Amino acid sequence: MADNPYFCAVSAIIIAIDGYSSCGKSTLAKALAAQLNYGYVDSGAMYRAVTLYFLENKVNFSKSKAVQVALTNIRIHFELNKTSNRNETWLNGRMVEDLIRSKAVSDYVSPVATLVDVRREMVDLQRLAGKNRGIVMDGRDIGTHVFPDAELKIFMTADPEVRALRRFRELLSKGESWNMEAVRENLRERDRIDSTRAENPLRQATDARVLDNSHLSESEQLDLAYRWAQEAILSKKASN
Ligand code: C5P
Repeated sequence: MADNPYFCAVSAIIIAIDGYSSCGKSTLAKALAAQLNYGYVDSGAMYRAVTLYFLENKVNFSKSKAVQVALTNIRIHFELNKTSNRNETWLNGRMVEDLIRSKAVSDYVSPVATLVDVRREMVDLQRLAGKNRGIVMDGRDIGTHVFPDAELKIFMTADPEVRALRRFRELLSKGESWNMEAVRENLRERDRIDSTRAENPLRQATDARVLDNSHLSESEQLDLAYRWAQEAILSKKASN
């Protein structure tokens, strides 16, 4: 980190990237974290890992006692796979990065993410991960609830049809057989549940910078976000 002029403990910032499903948040967040030598947390992967645990262990998540007991048995962490250079999610000592992207998990993750006990537990872990700042985190409520004091908040949007096509291609490349209408329906339903839930719904923070990437390449998005990050870091340095 020392070779990066933008990283130093006093000027390290938190970058919160929120937005609808399949807007390319994780792709941008990962690239931005790498460019800044910052940590990266995919908060959606945490909700997915909890959902996988509930499905595999047949946890009745309409019963809050069952949810609370199950949460005490869940350990989630991330590891960088040095061979594939992929940030992987681990659940109770097992690498589950591919399993948490399955259709079953995608179908249940948003209902699971409405559960108050699940959200509180995940938010605690997310805040712990960001306690020294120097982190990029993507999700739905990072700028509004997890880190309302994040120095840079980005709200990503994209045309729904562009998002569905991107998601369809991503699933295809992973050998998942979804048809386009099933992909559209999954995105619509997750967006609906995420924006209307009672606990920390998906909202654009009033101080977020909006990035509509319907017609931007990945490198154009990264250039823009990196510029915003530099501005935020320099402004924090100036105020210290
Ligand atoms: O980001 P991703 O699409 O993998 O997230 C999966 C789901 O996890 C979302 O559809 C949403 O229901 C939930 N989520 C959330 N809050 C976050 C991140 C994800 O509710 N901060």
